Amino acid sequence: MPSIPENILQVRTRIEAACTLAHRPAGSVTLLAVSKTCPPDAVRAALAAGQRAFGENYVQEALDKIAALADRRADLEWHLIGPLQSNKTRPVAEAFDWVHSVDRLKIAQRLSEQRPDHLSPLQLCLQVNVSDEASKSGVAPDELPALAQAVAKLPRVRLRGLMAIPEPEDDPVRQRAPHALLRSLRDGLRTQGLDLDTLSMGMSADLEAAVQEGATMVRIGTAIFGARARPGPAQ
Ligand SMILES: *Cc1c(COP(=O)(O)O)cnc(C)c1O
Repeated sequence: MPSIPENILQVRTRIEAACTLAHRPAGSVTLLAVSKTCPPDAVRAALAAGQRAFGENYVQEALDKIAALADRRADLEWHLIGPLQSNKTRPVAEAFDWVHSVDRLKIAQRLSEQRPDHLSPLQLCLQVNVSDEASKSGVAPDELPALAQAVAKLPRVRLRGLMAIPEPEDDPVRQRAPHALLRSLRDGLRTQGLDLDTLSMGMSADLEAAVQEGATMVRIGTAIFGARARPGPAQ
């Protein structure tokens, strides 16, 4: 079985090839290694291979892992990519560097209020529901502009961009539509004066389609750490 460092190398090669195809610079896409359900030693193995940014879904699991890896905190960037309830915002504001899954103003307000002063602002993405069906998470596209303008005004968080978890789709051409939608929503907010540099989209099965449509951060779990007992994103 290929090792975690070999898998990271392979994913980086996929990202570079996709960038070449899209006429984008190779460094324009950040790899977020999704370490949910993986033990701290798997994160250490990825760290040793030069990986710094890690994504987690489940708040309590992530807090335990961040604590277990406290000796390497300065080398690590922790991103929450899973659902966040309002009663869990304080530990998240204290422990994470980024939150990708903000879809309500109340959550962003609490994160801003609870972000400790000695830390730099918490970096945020707004999760957008880009699928037609009644998905459980993500702001609806027509409600996005008002939410983005309100979040951008909060003092202790910095709105960086948008995130989406499209419905699984095998066809590489059809994979592009939800990513293109997220990009156009981001472009729309930019014309409204918001300085957004991040499109968090693309997973193990669709990273090429996401890079083609402008992803700046791809979230890769399975292709780095192998299949999980709990597959798929918790939405
Ligand atoms: C699990 C998860 C990923 C990674 O998915 P893979 O298919 O394993 O690459 C990405 N984003 C979110 C939000 C997830 O929950």
